[in-house]
Amino acid sequence: MTSLDDLPIRDDLRGKSPYGAPQKHVRIELNVNENTHPIPEPVARDIIESLARAILTINRYPDREFSQLRDSLAGYLGHGLTRDNIWAANGSNEILQQIMQAFGGPGRSILGFPPTYSMHSIIASGTGTRWVSAERDTDFQITPRTAVAAIREHQPDIVIFCSPNNPTGTPLSLETIEAAYDATDKIVIVDEAYAEFAPSGAPSALALLPGRPRLIVSRTMSKAFAFAGARLGYLAADPSVADALRLVRLPYHLSSLTQAAAVAALHHSDEMLAMVDDIARQRDRIVERLTELGYHPWPTWSNFVLFGGVENPSEVFETLLEQGIIIRDLGIPGHLRVSAGTEAETSAFLDALAALS
Ligand SMILES: *Cc1c(COP(=O)(O)O)cnc(C)c1O
Repeated sequence: MTSLDDLPIRDDLRGKSPYGAPQKHVRIELNVNENTHPIPEPVARDIIESLARAILTINRYPDREFSQLRDSLAGYLGHGLTRDNIWAANGSNEILQQIMQAFGGPGRSILGFPPTYSMHSIIASGTGTRWVSAERDTDFQITPRTAVAAIREHQPDIVIFCSPNNPTGTPLSLETIEAAYDATDKIVIVDEAYAEFAPSGAPSALALLPGRPRLIVSRTMSKAFAFAGARLGYLAADPSVADALRLVRLPYHLSSLTQAAAVAALHHSDEMLAMVDDIARQRDRIVERLTELGYHPWPTWSNFVLFGGVENPSEVFETLLEQGIIIRDLGIPGHLRVSAGTEAETSAFLDALAALS
């Protein structure tokens, strides 16, 4: 057998590590911010009926423009968006990859603000886009001033924000996004994978789209919609953005089955999202209880909590894992991250952690 080092791989990929969140199947999985509530059975049945219809024409390529799905996604998002403003792919990771293929690539750079979603820099590396990091302010915030200063210094081809930010849960103000947009004539992405978990009435970057053709808001059905296994991410932007992505996407990248499943799920968005409030309650409960236990949870608008004050994160991680509970050690000193699960899962995590303290 040959090792990776022996293969004629691209020089810029040598020594890189792949995405590696442990995928262990244990009793309680609170490590990758999935929605741990299964989808309601009547909705599942409706999705299966759609899949059954779609399979009868599976000998044909799918609708390359996934028009019905884009209509459904536009209807779900509101904000006056129509099909032309929407693009979709196999997860928002593929959305981000297509954006970097079209607007980044060799000789170009993307600016992000760690600690943030690890896939942003991994997708940059896969597309040959240079990743540039800028510092956040205290408490993981990014003020308009900080964003503008970083853009002026690095002159990136793409700026990427994550709002609320993974892994910290920190929200981002629309003022920062507006200021960043005005400070560049390049692309600004806001990754809103967790938008549905924000307090009701919280502003989304979708509100900034009118008049800002270089702004892209990416969303996913993986988290709030409990649809991670289906792989459906999407974006909202000026219609010309989709024209750019048509140049780099593979033809027929969204299978007929994916399209059918997502359209059916979006018909039931109220039921699919019914668990969001409960998850937010469990998240708030985690924050409260961790505080009582002497940890330092960070304010969060997502379905997970990053908490500090952990003396030995890898030891706590391993001890919980021995009890069949997996959370996430992201290598941030003194910190661990946990996803809000069902009430029972959340209790099991909190009780196990309390027993350690
Ligand atoms: C989970 C997550 C995603 C979702 O990726 P998919 O490919 O849509 O499953 C995107 N961005 C962030 C910040 C995430 O945490």
